[in-house]
Amino acid sequence: MRRRPLTWLIPALATAAAVTVTVVVVPGGGGGGEREPDSRSVPAAHGERPAGKGRPDARDVVLAVHGGAGTALDRDKTTPEREKAYRDGLGKALRAGQRVLDQGGSSVDAVQAAVAELEDDPLFNAGKGAVFTADAGHELDASIMRGSDLKAGAVAGVKSLRNPIAGARTVMDKSPHVLLAGEGADDFGARHGLRTVTQDYYWTQARWDALMAAKEAAKGGRGAAKGLAGDKSGKAAADSPAALADAQSKGTVGAVAVDKRRDLAAATSTGGMTNKLPGRVGDSPLIGSGTYAKNSTVAASATGAGEVFIRGAATSTISNLVEFKGADVAAAAYEVIVKRLPELGGDGGVIALAPNGEFDAPHSSPGMLHGYLTKSGKVVTKIFPDETPPNT
Ligand code: ASP
Repeated sequence: MRRRPLTWLIPALATAAAVTVTVVVVPGGGGGGEREPDSRSVPAAHGERPAGKGRPDARDVVLAVHGGAGTALDRDKTTPEREKAYRDGLGKALRAGQRVLDQGGSSVDAVQAAVAELEDDPLFNAGKGAVFTADAGHELDASIMRGSDLKAGAVAGVKSLRNPIAGARTVMDKSPHVLLAGEGADDFGARHGLRTVTQDYYWTQARWDALMAAKEAAKGGRGAAKGLAGDKSGKAAADSPAALADAQSKGTVGAVAVDKRRDLAAATSTGGMTNKLPGRVGDSPLIGSGTYAKNSTVAASATGAGEVFIRGAATSTISNLVEFKGADVAAAAYEVIVKRLPELGGDGGVIALAPNGEFDAPHSSPGMLHGYLTKSGKVVTKIFPDETPPNT
């Protein structure tokens, strides 16, 4: 018998539950301390800037992850503990994917492992720590794609899978379909032995506060729906409820990888947007919008204003620019994210990896948390806007 989530219970649970922010310490994955050269997680060297404007940010990359385009961390206001938590979260995900790749595993297994780590980390808007819908529930989306044969799987609006990315992978491997939604997706995952949870598992204080802020902003008519519609016109003061809700609403996660066989893969997972209407599906589970991988072109995972990324067919357009226009991956990603999508009224970013290891992470949002692993084992994390200037 299937459990039906009692979303009306969430407010009561919210007041009763403790703050649950876990700081994960990653062996070899933190931002500080003495470590082996080339095997550590490091912030971008101070003052180092991405090459930008359509030129690759890094080369010889085998795996990259993102933790969303919403959280623009202010270097002056971020405590060392918080900085470490973000860098460790990204570093841990990269290490999880690295273990797969080092053992000769596939890029699909690597991106799934990396995304699952981020889903388990309450700092990010996916799995535990997912944002709330307007009726105080959680509905999660995820997708995965393999570049060698364009196989793909996705789930939308799931309410009880602990790791939606595992649901997406199961749809890809064990069904004739690409996308399962709602109860059918939850049931399919449970029938295939995936771990299930009750809705309170996803709860975090920060996401609850963001929902309250969004409701508050809506009451004041200041456009909490800004994030929902991708409409930039209602820009509010940085510390206003609307701004808090908007900043907290993102944090989607994703990964891209290339393995020893030169096969590409991409994966994305999210709780969506804070205060979204129940039933709303964003770009993250849509192949060609939030996720795309094709061996001859690119592996890409996006984050940002989902409606705009759907309308702009974000990740498949990057692939098409590479395939039909002969553009480099970095140039194609820049063109789509920085030039085309903002014209549709929404910002965000993408991590994009070429089969030859060229990597770029352009974004039009104020920040985008991301990190990458090179062939030699170096892990770099970028979380501050001065490490990841927008529109480059
Ligand atoms: N793109 C996601 C969505 O619209 C949100 C995000 O990336 O933060 O559901």
